[in-house]
Amino acid sequence: MNTFDVAVVGAGMVGAALALALAREGFDVAVIEPRAPKAWNARDDVDLRVVALALSSVDLFGRLDAWKEISAARASAYRHMRVWDALAPGALKFDAADAGRTALGWIVENRLIQSVLWQALQREARITLHCPARVTATDATGDRRTLALDDGSVVCAKLVVAADGADSPLRGLLGIAARERDYGQCAVVAHVATERAHEATAWQRFLPGATLAFLPLADGRCSIVWSAPDAEAARLLALDDDSFRAELGAAFDFRLGRITATTPRASFPLRMQLADRYIAPRFALIGDAAHAVHPLAGQGVNLGLRDVEELRSVLVEAREARRDIAAESLLRRYERRRRSDNTLSAHAFDAIQRAFGSAAMPVAAFRGTGLALVDAIAPLKRMFAAHAAGR
Ligand SMILES: Cc1cc2nc3c(=O)[nH]c(=O)nc-3n(C[C@H](O)[C@H](O)[C@H](O)COP(=O)(O)OP(=O)(O)OC[C@H]3O[C@@H](n4cnc5c(N)ncnc54)[C@H](O)[C@@H]3O)c2cc1C
Repeated sequence: MNTFDVAVVGAGMVGAALALALAREGFDVAVIEPRAPKAWNARDDVDLRVVALALSSVDLFGRLDAWKEISAARASAYRHMRVWDALAPGALKFDAADAGRTALGWIVENRLIQSVLWQALQREARITLHCPARVTATDATGDRRTLALDDGSVVCAKLVVAADGADSPLRGLLGIAARERDYGQCAVVAHVATERAHEATAWQRFLPGATLAFLPLADGRCSIVWSAPDAEAARLLALDDDSFRAELGAAFDFRLGRITATTPRASFPLRMQLADRYIAPRFALIGDAAHAVHPLAGQGVNLGLRDVEELRSVLVEAREARRDIAAESLLRRYERRRRSDNTLSAHAFDAIQRAFGSAAMPVAAFRGTGLALVDAIAPLKRMFAAHAAGR
């Protein structure tokens, strides 16, 4: 039986990026995915799921020859960020020009990224796709890990990587536990038209117990992410369009004037989830399978793509040193480097969510002061900006 260098389970944005990155380095890669992504079509309305890509993620897609196609299709640069609070004065402002850049990041549809990466996987000679397929059992013996698939086939690889999302069935098969904090919140998403132009700005307003982001789309509309307690999110979803537009405009302090139109809404439950370990014999976790974070900082996929870059570099180093690419000491290095960054980020977003989720006045006063302080102290502000950009 053919043994691959790496088998990647899950071809979402993170798994597909890893498979491509490794194939481009000359590794033979198997990809296992239950459903091919729906092809992106310019005539379709903008997909309701979008992500704010940090510059580090855009760089990675550039190296994978995917960014040109993505940006030519439909992507929107944001050059400014404005963060402010409904309960206290003080605001945080970031401008790309201050950092000598033309953009702080890009807003792109998930489906577009997935579709471009999927087509690239199909073209890549070193990649073997198993789709539709799921893993039913796995075992590590000697120099390989074996995966039994539900289509009856068996895949062997020196290293298996789970990129199968926050619910990661493969993480479960390996017996790796994940600590979870259910925020009791849902993110309500929609695309809306506003009276005034979005000014290529990513806007975020903290509300009592909720956060509201307006992300600029290429067609002049904004993609909104309104994270609110479950009952409140259910109420927002149930509103008729006119009432929703009125409530949304007020919650956003009419910063862009009235909301003049909205698409239908969707919602996603929110939780923080951190895997206890990232590795096992001939096995590693990446992306949401390893760490799911609150979307208020728009960093989930960006962290996952940093996992991709780290794992790629560890495997290339191993091959150059003629070592086993799944040697425990190498996988530990990957785990050490990525777990600390991901855990720190997840707890930082969690702390912000808790502080801004509170309507208690002393906390509110502190958070207004905090925003103003960060904005006033240049090195602190630079640190936040660099972290958000993934540098
Ligand atoms: C409302 C909201 C807004 C967000 N905004 C941002 C943002 O602005 N910026 C940002 O960086 N992040 C954002 N995120 C987070 C981001 O969407 C996730 O971090 C990202 O999608 C994770 O990618 P992934 O490839 O790790 O996992 P997923 O996207 O979950 O992909 C997992 C893949 O595994 C496949 N799979 C599932 N089961 C199996 C199986 N049994 N076997 C094989 N494959 C399987 C799935 O089909 C899928 O293709 C947001 C999240 C939410 C909910």
